[in-house]
Amino acid sequence: MTSVTEPKTYRIKSFGCQMNVYDGERMAELLGAQGMSAAPEGSDADLVVLNTCHIREKAAEKVYSDIGRLRREDGSAPLIAVAGCVAQAEGEEIMARSPDVKMVVGPQAYHRLPAMIEKARRGERVTDTDMPANAKFGVLPQRTRRAPSAFLTVQEGCDKFCTYCVVPYTRGAEISRPFADLVEEAKRLVDAGAREITLLGQNVNAWDGEDDKGRAVGLDGLILELAALPDLRRIRYTTSHPNDMSDALIAAHGEIDKLMPYLHLPVQSGSNRVLAAMNRSHSAESYVALIERFRTARPDIAISGDFIVGFPGETDAEFEDTLKMVDTIRYAAAFSFKYSPRPGTPAATMDGQIAKDVMDERLQRLQAALQRDSLAFNQASVGRTCEVLVERKGRKPGQWLGKTPWLQSAWFASGPDRADAAIGDLVQVELLAAGPNSLEARVI
Ligand code: SF4
Repeated sequence: MTSVTEPKTYRIKSFGCQMNVYDGERMAELLGAQGMSAAPEGSDADLVVLNTCHIREKAAEKVYSDIGRLRREDGSAPLIAVAGCVAQAEGEEIMARSPDVKMVVGPQAYHRLPAMIEKARRGERVTDTDMPANAKFGVLPQRTRRAPSAFLTVQEGCDKFCTYCVVPYTRGAEISRPFADLVEEAKRLVDAGAREITLLGQNVNAWDGEDDKGRAVGLDGLILELAALPDLRRIRYTTSHPNDMSDALIAAHGEIDKLMPYLHLPVQSGSNRVLAAMNRSHSAESYVALIERFRTARPDIAISGDFIVGFPGETDAEFEDTLKMVDTIRYAAAFSFKYSPRPGTPAATMDGQIAKDVMDERLQRLQAALQRDSLAFNQASVGRTCEVLVERKGRKPGQWLGKTPWLQSAWFASGPDRADAAIGDLVQVELLAAGPNSLEARVI
């Protein structure tokens, strides 16, 4: 065994969902607390963490090719850790196939990275895919991230077992982080400059806990508590499951001004037979009825969704039901994918796997409909006045980019004759013109 010098710089490459982005930030804070710093862009890092996503198509194969690319020109390699859902799912298999990998760490165990790095330096190869519920949050360092919009994981894991999804296997059973810990972390994020917090969870609306008076509260109660933080101006949450939606959370959209008018609620298919085969435990009709209730509570709410085309056995008529769902809901935004089997999930071995060209054609038709609707939503916003939370500078001098309350990207120009802006400002604008992906605005 050879030992390596203490790593001074790190690079974390996070793939996939916002929860991985959050985990990547927490790992960066953890490594920062150990005295390490992020490797400057374009330079080699002493330690590379691949924070993987199992939802990527051919996820495991892509991780192995990502690992191969980390070898440097002189033949050496950094200390490599594989984290995230592929690490959880593949575990020792990664060690067996990739001698360069020194650490494999699951999403519930990354708080133990510093000890793993120590062992790896001494030449050991370490795998930790334990799933101790909530343990990591108790030992991670305090939040230091300075950005106007921050993620806060409130819930992890999933008990729903949709037949196409690996999350219940890689992230474990549903757990909710304690109320007091979340309020504390939110305060620290706001103190560090966050003006918007997005509450994250695989089933975020399944979050529950006890408030500081010992009363049982759901996500609406947590949102209400966070809304009392004066410098926190916007709250969002994602991703929800239709079956965990409570009356109180729906009502909160009409009652809490800081809760933004945006809801991401995956439906996956418009066909009841496909939804049953997916084990989604809701119907097309119940989903539509739920969206109507949100629209009653908050008429301007922007609805976003997730879709899978070509689930095993999906017929042409069942795909048409998905298009009908799109026509009914008129999504402001959506994510759509071709079905691809995930090893170990029930759907991977179902009969009736759909041919690639059929899936391609269905995806094209679905995306055309979704783009039509997101453009229409943006066009209907023209003339509205609203606040934009400034997130970064644009490419041109004096140009700023940010998000509207409906999570649309908007840009505006400040300049000599107009008040300047800064990252983190909430700027009152009028929306002037719309494209499918962004809006032009002017400061008012
Ligand atoms: S609800 Fe279904 S799709 Fe979402 S994480 Fe759970 S199993 Fe996966």
